[in-house]
Amino acid sequence: MEHTEFRVKAKEMVDYIADYLENIRSRRVYPGVQPGYLHKLLPKEAPYNPEQWDEIFKDVEEHIMPGIVHWQSPHMHAYFPALTSYPSIMGEILSSALNVLCFTWASSPAGTELETIAMNWLGKLLGLPECFLNEKDDSPGGGVIQTTASEATLVSLLAARTRALMELSKLNPELQSSELLGHLICYCSDQAHSSVEKAGLIGLVRMRYIESDGNQSMRGDRLDEAIVADKKKGLVPFWVCATLGTTGSVAFDNLREIGEVCEKHSAWLHVDAAYAGSAFICPEYRHWLDGVELADSFAFNPSKWLMVNFDCTAMWVRDSTALHRTFNVNPIYLRHENSGKAIDYMHWQIPLSRRFRALKLWFVLRNYGVIGLQKHIRESVRLGQKFEALVLADQRFEIPQPRNLGMVAFRLKGDNALTERLLKRLNARGYIHAVPACFKGVYVIRFTVTSQRTTNQDILDDWNEIKTVASEILVEVFG
Ligand code: PLP
Repeated sequence: MEHTEFRVKAKEMVDYIADYLENIRSRRVYPGVQPGYLHKLLPKEAPYNPEQWDEIFKDVEEHIMPGIVHWQSPHMHAYFPALTSYPSIMGEILSSALNVLCFTWASSPAGTELETIAMNWLGKLLGLPECFLNEKDDSPGGGVIQTTASEATLVSLLAARTRALMELSKLNPELQSSELLGHLICYCSDQAHSSVEKAGLIGLVRMRYIESDGNQSMRGDRLDEAIVADKKKGLVPFWVCATLGTTGSVAFDNLREIGEVCEKHSAWLHVDAAYAGSAFICPEYRHWLDGVELADSFAFNPSKWLMVNFDCTAMWVRDSTALHRTFNVNPIYLRHENSGKAIDYMHWQIPLSRRFRALKLWFVLRNYGVIGLQKHIRESVRLGQKFEALVLADQRFEIPQPRNLGMVAFRLKGDNALTERLLKRLNARGYIHAVPACFKGVYVIRFTVTSQRTTNQDILDDWNEIKTVASEILVEVFG
């Protein structure tokens, strides 16, 4: 493809994207295809001769779209939102054209500096304490964009592990790190996301799961008891992950209590607020942040609810030297005359190369403004409340855990099997898409308000669909 063709075809692509997003409501949100469907439609080998763009693009609507889950649809209620928006797409287009790799300041000064600035803006927007910002030359803290919340969790655990191993080897200079590793232990709630377990597996450290209370919240007293018991066994507690907005029920761990326990036992506190973090741009939700000044790292995904398309995980650390100690390698080809003076984000993450993701974040922050973003969050919560009210008004359904923010976990009263059947049939019909969760043996359907395009009518239509299918199932089962 040459310049002239690109000018024409890229404009057509922009129209295709705008049409797609404008009319997304008319598409079946969940595809009806079976595994292997695409293998039957596409050739077994890459073409030897170049193909015309129109030929290539024809296959998108014919073969690719039938296998797409339409995550931007108002009828998408599965997982958490993964929203995009026009300013974000603009950022992505420009960033893919520039295709700079912002691993050091020198590899793209604007890429690095815009990331620091956008992360300071965002940190202030959430009301994070100053220790997480990077506004002065000697600020030890700061923000960095990671690929995913899972990666932020792993980065945090590895940094805490380095700190703990350094302390331990001072006390036991005769022992190797590999021998000390067996003494380390870290903690999260039994409601924490599976990525926390994965971080422990990769980090080769033990993980203890703290039983959450009746509100699915990890509390300080239970964490403290577990830590004290582990210390008596000779273990070294070094890292705790608190979740603000759990995946199953958007429950909140008690950050202040947990922070105080971490302080008492000198453990690193990481906060995983993957979904709920976006809500903290609205002051009325910041009570869940109480105690955040006790955390060592904090992460959430603007790529979920804040309309910055995937990938974009915002992570802040109190002390970036803990990351440097863990990830710093400094070969000659990466050194530059401002090494040590300017931020080199390669020392804050696992891979070397990194995309210019700050651009789309900056575009979104500017184009919506604080007011536009707050309106979006509040509207999702209002629609969540609306759905909750519809469910509660129908005696056949129940909501076992209180709703928080834009997610309602509901079920048909009675056996789990009824709700399982309901969900299976809803997804098979493809008009709405949702996934389940299980709270201590109670099976629920998670209904998340995902799209910025969702209207009152969409919620009513979705509820009608759920009620119709539920009535069918109840007749089949009970006659
Ligand atoms: N943490 C929580 C609480 C989540 O809900 C999720 C995903 O929904 C994750 C972590 C993982 O996010 P990511 O896909 O960005 O790794």
